[in-house]
Amino acid sequence: MTNLNEKVVLITGASSGIGEAAARELAAAGARLFVGARRGERLAALADELGSNVGWRTLDVTDSADFDAFVDAAEARFGRVDALVNNAGVMPLSPLAALKRDEWKRMVDVNIHGVLNGIAAVLPRFIAQKNGHVVNVASVGAHLVVPTGAVYCGTKYAVWAISEGLRQEHDEIRSTVISPGVTDTELGHDITDPQVAGALEGWRRKSLRPDAIARAIRFALEQPDGVDVNEIVVRPTAADM
Ligand code: NDP
Repeated sequence: MTNLNEKVVLITGASSGIGEAAARELAAAGARLFVGARRGERLAALADELGSNVGWRTLDVTDSADFDAFVDAAEARFGRVDALVNNAGVMPLSPLAALKRDEWKRMVDVNIHGVLNGIAAVLPRFIAQKNGHVVNVASVGAHLVVPTGAVYCGTKYAVWAISEGLRQEHDEIRSTVISPGVTDTELGHDITDPQVAGALEGWRRKSLRPDAIARAIRFALEQPDGVDVNEIVVRPTAADM
């Protein structure tokens, strides 16, 4: 039995990559899960595979009403909510001079407002129950900036700051930042600049598998009340990113 046994954990962006791996890892640890993303068919298949302790609902994290309804649905299914893993994110990298304003906006909407919408959806409950844990998936890009990553890294610096603010403002609510290095997932499949897409292929030559990040998420979540893992940075051995 772990501290995760029977805990109700919500995961965004569970239709692929790190979120999907986190669902597998946390389900194996005995957590009850409610997973969200836009691609419902993938969530349904994952929930089918993992069994009756896993519920799902489509979710667009940029829509605050949809996020509220997602948390309500989780509570209706399992009777409570103990933790939220704000994992959904997008990374259409490009140089600033390409002026890809729509992509900048999408990154800000998903990576920052998505996290804030999640915090807003759970915080009143966590305050009322004097307990709760928010795990925000940031990035090594919350600590360093690379060319083509100005906006993406900007969103992840923001996630780091928001997480730290949440941590400082509450005595009974835990806040954790998970900062992955390069991990082999679907992230960046929406890069529209062919040169940047090629560079990403190069970075991915040395990459983690998503289960490495899932184990870090599990470690933070399974600590007892009173132990707040503030941040875990996980990179491939000896990698810069
Ligand atoms: P993936 O692209 O595999 O997964 C991203 C997930 O986010 C998908 O499940 C996607 O689901 C979901 N998502 C995107 N937009 C929305 C939205 N509007 N509403 C709800 N869900 C959404 O990438 P990763 O697993 O790598 O990404 C997970 C997190 O890890 C991200 O925050 C990313 O920034 C971070 N990260 C990843 C690194 C890496 O190298 N892979 C490195 C550092 C950080 P759907 O499309 O079905 O909605």
